[in-house]
Amino acid sequence: MVSIKAPRGVRDILPEESWKWAFVLKTASEVAQDFNYREVHLPIFEQTELFARGVGDTTDIVEKEMYTFEDRGGRSLTLRPELSASMVRAYLENRMDQRPQPVKLWSAGPMFRYERPQKGRYRQFWQLDFEAIGSQDPYVDVEVIALSVELFRRLGMKGLDVVINSVGCPMCRPVHKEALQSFLKPHLSELCPTCQDRYNRNPLRILDCKNPTCRAITDNAPDTISYLCPECKEHFEGLKAGLDALGLHYSIDNRLVRGLDYYTKTAYEVLSGELGAQNAVCGGGRYDNLAEAIGGKHTPGVGFAAGLERIVLTMEQQGCSFGKEPALEVFVVAVGDIERKEALKLMHEFRKAGISADMDFNGKSFRAQLKVANQMGAPIVCILGEEELKAGKVSIKDMETGQQVEVPLEEGVPFVRTKLGE
Ligand code: AMP
Repeated sequence: MVSIKAPRGVRDILPEESWKWAFVLKTASEVAQDFNYREVHLPIFEQTELFARGVGDTTDIVEKEMYTFEDRGGRSLTLRPELSASMVRAYLENRMDQRPQPVKLWSAGPMFRYERPQKGRYRQFWQLDFEAIGSQDPYVDVEVIALSVELFRRLGMKGLDVVINSVGCPMCRPVHKEALQSFLKPHLSELCPTCQDRYNRNPLRILDCKNPTCRAITDNAPDTISYLCPECKEHFEGLKAGLDALGLHYSIDNRLVRGLDYYTKTAYEVLSGELGAQNAVCGGGRYDNLAEAIGGKHTPGVGFAAGLERIVLTMEQQGCSFGKEPALEVFVVAVGDIERKEALKLMHEFRKAGISADMDFNGKSFRAQLKVANQMGAPIVCILGEEELKAGKVSIKDMETGQQVEVPLEEGVPFVRTKLGE
């Protein structure tokens, strides 16, 4: 055991799990292709200002959750806590406004947040992120929601709920904020300390507090939808009409608000009953004011991020298929210098032919090598002994039946290929 362990809240993704991740990532890239979203790879760290301005400095993420550090040049950098801000930065910086709009991008990679670790919540976690930048059309919101639902459908996930809301825009939000504050004022002392703190800074977030007392108080609180301006109302109607047209089921959740200040209009989540307290598989919405917040020209956008760990957790709990697990196909056994060199050559021939092959690299005895082949689950073992080599042959053993046949060395690869195909 090493005394240095991985930092709290981060995990090693070992081979037993990584192939499941690869399946989800492959499916995501297929769905992206079908919806005409193109993949981008963005920096893991950005200037702190991007998140401080983009994500909003009254959000929990910026206040407490960012991994911020100074580099040797004295710049303040931050490990990205999410991707939308980077996506919009990349869009602006690379003049993607010159391309046909909206520009549809996706990316997958690790995010970093200093949160209290629990099941389904880590300090480094992966997100699949899809963003459509450069259109206000509510049908783009519909497309984004439909994309996430289609991804989860292809992954075989069941029992998911889509919840939507509209959080309005800078036109309608102040009116709602005022109504909410006057509603909450008589109860201020009963709210949890966090919500008391939110009362002035970010009262909207009081609506999604999990504390039972806060929830009871906010049960009849003014909701954002009742306060939407005509433009936001029309947008919300367009969103619902589009979802209805596609036959996508959803419910409206008045408590669904965003911690991120740049979000406007549509907010949505896909929830899984399987996940317990951290039940959101994906979250997203519209952020029409993000581009301006980070110093660019007004550019509307909408997108979602789905947690890869939570997708895999849900799929495991639901017994979903991850496709075929990668497996070793052939193990080549040989003892002695001359035989080992022949084994090395034969193994390489298998590999060049696209057959997964391996051999012993630890000087183990013949019996011990067979044992390793068995532990590795190789269905076929090729044996190159002194006798075989002399005769220019190789023995091929079927590990399931125990049957063994000798074939000429040069026929080893085609013979095994046929056997594997059976
Ligand atoms: P958010 O950017 O907070 O809207 O999160 C989007 C999605 O990322 C969530 O629905 C989760 O699936 C996932 N997620 C967010 N935070 C974490 C975390 N700390 N650990 C694991 N997954 C997370």
